[in-house]
Amino acid sequence: MNAAHILPSSPIAKALAVVGDRWSALVMREMFLGTTRFGELAAATGASRATLSKRLRALLANGLLYQNPYQMRPPRVEYRLTEKGFGLYDFALSIWTWEARWSRGADRRLPPRLLHRGCGHRTLPTACCARCGKPIDIHELRYEAGVARGAQSATNDGALRRSTKALPDAGDGKGLLLHAIDLIADHWTPLVLAAAFMGIRRYDDIRRELGIATNILSHRLKLLVEAGVLQQAPGTLSGKRLEYRLTEKGRALIVPALALHQWSLEWLPAGKGPSMQIFHDCSPEPLALRMDCSHCHQALVAREVSFP
Ligand SMILES: [Zn+2]
Ligand SMILES: [Zn+2]
Repeated sequence: MNAAHILPSSPIAKALAVVGDRWSALVMREMFLGTTRFGELAAATGASRATLSKRLRALLANGLLYQNPYQMRPPRVEYRLTEKGFGLYDFALSIWTWEARWSRGADRRLPPRLLHRGCGHRTLPTACCARCGKPIDIHELRYEAGVARGAQSATNDGALRRSTKALPDAGDGKGLLLHAIDLIADHWTPLVLAAAFMGIRRYDDIRRELGIATNILSHRLKLLVEAGVLQQAPGTLSGKRLEYRLTEKGRALIVPALALHQWSLEWLPAGKGPSMQIFHDCSPEPLALRMDCSHCHQALVAREVSFP
């Protein structure tokens, strides 16, 4: 299969155009934590009023949030998740799980534990195939270039322009602790990871697939190696040339990627260029992801999960 250049127009890339800048990701995280008012959002994210206004406008325009009046005089609104915004719940759960496993609570804004009210126990959200119920194993997935499909076009009014400075310098990476939010809040990093998920491992192959400048690719690869997400290994097929392989920590990032992929297919327009479909071994139908409770194995839904 010739998979060339799927990724730049893939569902994941489109989802990142909507929520993949640092401030939007932080705002969405706060929404899932129950923060609703402008002042509280500003305090929790550290965004300036201008920055926060801009991101909220874009999230409203893209239909992830709506304004709910909570006071008439003087008029005041709070922000709430729409159904489309709530659709990112599996993504939020998967980020929480990854952070809990790999950052050991270093991200203080995330709740230390989740309670599944459905069964009354502490839960660790587990990504499963909704068709066969098996936990997701990256080796049981396959990818195909598909026909683009989707709704209308997303708004990108400039608020979502991503900065190359969003990431720390790879030079002093001793014990570099990279949070999931740092990984998604950069244009190239998630795409480099997506290439790794698809088995594109050699430097030149990644560069070709993504159409990425060599200095940017080198920087992102170095960073991902220092963060323990990728490791360099001699290639098996490519003679002595080095390959970049996912570590266990890196493989675990497949779950947030799948959650974004699924949300994008459901809610975002297809746009131009080839799309991508992901399949589980069990079925010829595209993968349907579900986040299950680790205790009772029921699907986790937002209203039944709390953080005491
Ligand atoms: Zn399955
Ligand atoms: Zn449960």
